[in-house]
Amino acid sequence: MSEEVAESLAVMPVQRKNGTYALRLCLDQGLLTPAMTRRVLDIMEVCPGVSLRATTGQRMNLEGVPEARLDEIVAMMGTSIPKCPPGMSVCSGGELCRFGKQATREMSEQLLSVIKANGPYPFKVKTGVSGCGMACGLSFVRDIGLVGRTEGWDVYFGGCATSKAGPGVLLGQELSREETLAAIGRALVFYRENGKKRERTSALLRRLGQDAVLRAVRQATV
Ligand code: SF4
Repeated sequence: MSEEVAESLAVMPVQRKNGTYALRLCLDQGLLTPAMTRRVLDIMEVCPGVSLRATTGQRMNLEGVPEARLDEIVAMMGTSIPKCPPGMSVCSGGELCRFGKQATREMSEQLLSVIKANGPYPFKVKTGVSGCGMACGLSFVRDIGLVGRTEGWDVYFGGCATSKAGPGVLLGQELSREETLAAIGRALVFYRENGKKRERTSALLRRLGQDAVLRAVRQATV
């Protein structure tokens, strides 16, 4: 990959109520390189009124882009895409945090590959990856949640943070990396094949019961 491509940004335009556009920066686990940051600062200099806002999903939005300058600003950023990859909340993990029991960055990359490989899904799949039980990555209330333990990963499925908030069902404890990814893959296939259109994983579990997904995940290992 050329340096130019690596430093450009994929952005998803989102129209706002006032007719301006937000450009959602599709970041890799929330990371902005110096070159990417320079692109953003250049745009804020040449386009007064544009601001940068952090989203809850570890992304950044460039807000206030006038419709008349949309194509120009998108070209300055990089490329336009219709949809960002699935949202992930990833904590700093064992690489950076003194409490971390497991490293989160590489695991999150592999998890994203599993999510992409098994889709499309009935509705959005949000994930949270946390390096320890404090769960700063919101793992307990995400469709897929990983919590780092001393000997591996606890794996949750079907959590949500909506008005019917609640933790997901525990698919396995202290699983190895391979076991973790395999269990998630099976749970996602179950969701893909049994979920109704626009039904989140938590609603699926309420409708079919936790045992249904546990059976599906366990039967596949026999
Ligand atoms: S979940 Fe644990 S490892 Fe991750 S940032 Fe929070 S305290 Fe640190």
